[in-house]
Amino acid sequence: MPRNSVAKQANVHDRQDCHFSAIPERFNAVTRILKADAQGVAAAAEVLAAGGLVAFPTETVYGLGADASNPAAVARIYAAKGRPAFNPLIAHVSNVAAAQREAAAPAKALALAAHFWPGPLTLVAPVAPTGCVCDLARAGLSSVALRAPAHPAAQALLAAFGRPFAAPSDNRSGHVSPVTAQHVAADLSGKVDLILDGGRTPAGLESTIVSFTGSEPTLLRPGALPRADIEAMLGAHLAAPTSAAIVAPGMTAAHYAPAAYLRIDAESLAQDEYGLDFGGQLSAHAPAGRIVCDLSPAGDMIEAAANLFAALRDIDVRGLTKIAVAPIPDEGIGEAINDRLQRAAVR
Ligand code: AMP
Ligand code: MG
Repeated sequence: MPRNSVAKQANVHDRQDCHFSAIPERFNAVTRILKADAQGVAAAAEVLAAGGLVAFPTETVYGLGADASNPAAVARIYAAKGRPAFNPLIAHVSNVAAAQREAAAPAKALALAAHFWPGPLTLVAPVAPTGCVCDLARAGLSSVALRAPAHPAAQALLAAFGRPFAAPSDNRSGHVSPVTAQHVAADLSGKVDLILDGGRTPAGLESTIVSFTGSEPTLLRPGALPRADIEAMLGAHLAAPTSAAIVAPGMTAAHYAPAAYLRIDAESLAQDEYGLDFGGQLSAHAPAGRIVCDLSPAGDMIEAAANLFAALRDIDVRGLTKIAVAPIPDEGIGEAINDRLQRAAVR
């Protein structure tokens, strides 16, 4: 779903829910493992198009991919990884032209991409209005991280799918990054729909991340592409990130924060509050028209995660200032939802 669709829907004041995204079917109880040949790649592209999760080899480590434009599919990445928070994910693209649709990348960034792509270099740049990478994949940031992987299976999958896919490294959060399909299976069997087995990944080390969102190119993460190669190409040194960026890229001040005041774990609405509901808890007692949306009327956490960022933006677009948020269980991906809501509530 395009990012600006929230604004288009913002005049629907009596809406009782915010189903911005379709919920993909849960079809990953059984994980298929296919060789990364033409047939396997075609099957993987189908899984991605249906909102499923595909583990695929890159030249760095295995990635856990989902359609970058589909928040419900991206929510399943966070759920599968057991991430404690919504860290921004790298969107994988075929080439520089595809990257230019996603990011307003400055000339220096494009020069690096032209030189080092496909390869283990991730570029962070402001999102472009034409971009399709959803808010959840960017963790609400106004920047997007892009990389064109060199592995032939990853390139074939990008060509077959035809859109960017968001993919963090493929391990459970806190485990080491996987370099074989067996590592992936050990960590994520039953949580990913399909594993494309392309053998051992060559680099075994994550991509180097360079940000072009500040006044000078900044090395956010050292990785498989040496800093010296990038600096030689740029003709300049890469700056060190600020301490906030090192601690948690994307989760601090630069993170999208709603202007509205959020009161979390609310069991009912105060007189001047609007409600952000979950599982119909607030709706039952709320006056008509005062529920902004229900993140998931059925109480489904993946659906709630998929709707969260769009709902927060919607609240601002509608100019609401006081929001009561229904309690959300602190289990599974609920932990990340609550983490995000707590950050949004801090003033
Ligand atoms: P991984 O999930 O291991 O592939 O790591 C992805 C890295 O990219 C993490 O360190 C993210 O924080 C970083 N990243 C992704 N998107 C952005 C962004 N928009 N701004 C800054 N860092 C980002
Ligand atoms: Mg990782």
